Amino acid sequence: MKPRPSFPARLDTQARPAGAARRPLPAAPPPRDGGTSIRQPAFESTRKRMVAKLVAQGLADRQVCAALELVERHRFVDPALEGQAYEDTSLPIGLGQTISKPGVVARMIELLLNGRTDRLGRVLEVGTGCGYQAAVLSLVATEVYSIERLRGLHDKARDNLRAFRLPNVHLLFGDGMAGFAKGAPYAGIIAAAGGDAIPTAWTDQLAVGGRLVAPVAVSGAASGAVGSQSIVVIDKTAQGLRQNVCETVHFVPLKSGVA
Ligand code: SAH
Repeated sequence: MKPRPSFPARLDTQARPAGAARRPLPAAPPPRDGGTSIRQPAFESTRKRMVAKLVAQGLADRQVCAALELVERHRFVDPALEGQAYEDTSLPIGLGQTISKPGVVARMIELLLNGRTDRLGRVLEVGTGCGYQAAVLSLVATEVYSIERLRGLHDKARDNLRAFRLPNVHLLFGDGMAGFAKGAPYAGIIAAAGGDAIPTAWTDQLAVGGRLVAPVAVSGAASGAVGSQSIVVIDKTAQGLRQNVCETVHFVPLKSGVA
């Protein structure tokens, strides 16, 4: 049995023995079997360092920083990869898919929040993968609908997220290219897989005043590289859709159908 994750239960900071808060974590990760009665919060200072690095690289949103400091990314990867969980790198999660780089998760959610200081409303995430980004989103949005087309990963995300007990995360199995009409309209839509274009279902299901952030393939001279992707931000206004193209990214492909 995995120990119960310390997030979000630790939101209320409990009294710790004097000096314990600043004591460095042991080099080896704490046991996953939770056998000890006094458990060091796993990788807490490592996570803080990761966020500090992202801040040095330009991350400014306080809600995003707080969420990344809380969500235990090491619980979403294979135990053999735990030691790399707080590097700014994508890692394999099975079935040819990857957990996104923390820096990219942070950047895309920062774009999604667009400077607001309160929680976003309902959010649709396309591409649950292992569930990490869904957990981060659960801290900055009121409701998170996260859809995954691969049954194996949908099940894995459910297992990974179960112990966190996040009542505002709703995991769905299906083709996210069709969005999820039952949860619409969304204040935010975020995709973790990149296609050639934004499906119209997504912009249809976006609320007026809502924002969509997704990687999209850009081709030819404009991008400078064949087959590269950029983050595209679409704002839905009363006058229509407004699109901005941001930095280059590398996401797994958005595919249709389920498997
Ligand atoms: N959000 C994840 C990233 C997972 S990688 C994280 O936190 O790290 C992207 C995921 O998108 C993959 O699991 C892939 O299977 C999924 N995907 C690709 N096309 C999809 C589609 N049409 N509908 C739903 N999921 C899709």
